[in-house]
Amino acid sequence: MRYTSTAIEALIEEFAKLPGIGRKTAQRLAMHILQEKPGEVEKLSGALIDVKEKVISCSICQNVTDRGDDPCSICRGKGRDLSMICVVESPSDVLAFEKTAQYRGLYHVLHGVISPLDGVGPDDIKVKELLARLSPQDGREVSEVIMALSPTVEGETTVLYLSRLLKPLGIEVTKIARGIPVGAELEYIDEATLSRAMEGRSVL
Ligand SMILES: [Zn+2]
Repeated sequence: MRYTSTAIEALIEEFAKLPGIGRKTAQRLAMHILQEKPGEVEKLSGALIDVKEKVISCSICQNVTDRGDDPCSICRGKGRDLSMICVVESPSDVLAFEKTAQYRGLYHVLHGVISPLDGVGPDDIKVKELLARLSPQDGREVSEVIMALSPTVEGETTVLYLSRLLKPLGIEVTKIARGIPVGAELEYIDEATLSRAMEGRSVL
């Protein structure tokens, strides 16, 4: 069944493209928008456009930040431990670790993991940018790189690849502990488990 309005159908079609949204939920969202005050809908559409126009990757850690706020607040942050970089897959993982309020080092967001089957190689994720942060020339302060990637085949492949690159640079490469279910996405792990995984990290 289709609504007798092409505008509503177009909106439903757009919502249904979003992850985890089926046709039913898309319909519910579209009906909600239809009943919403014009001001609220403008705020929503403005937020959608802003996120594409204003959000950039931090020039240092590749995490999300706003244009005009680069390096990001974590890279600029006072009281951070500059000797550690925690390597994660996505900006959501940074959020997960920050929520534990325990890790005080820096991050590096790869924006993916190496996945040969999907045609994703090292050049398709932010590996170059990580190496640039570790070059011994400019008085490097980093002594430990912590691998905090999801324990999937792709995550493990990426950890192996990176540790082979980083160890010859004289950097201690560690990996967060298990206790995280295999295949689980870091962002869905509870804070206590994530804290324990970070504390129990081992040298690769
Ligand atoms: Zn940053």
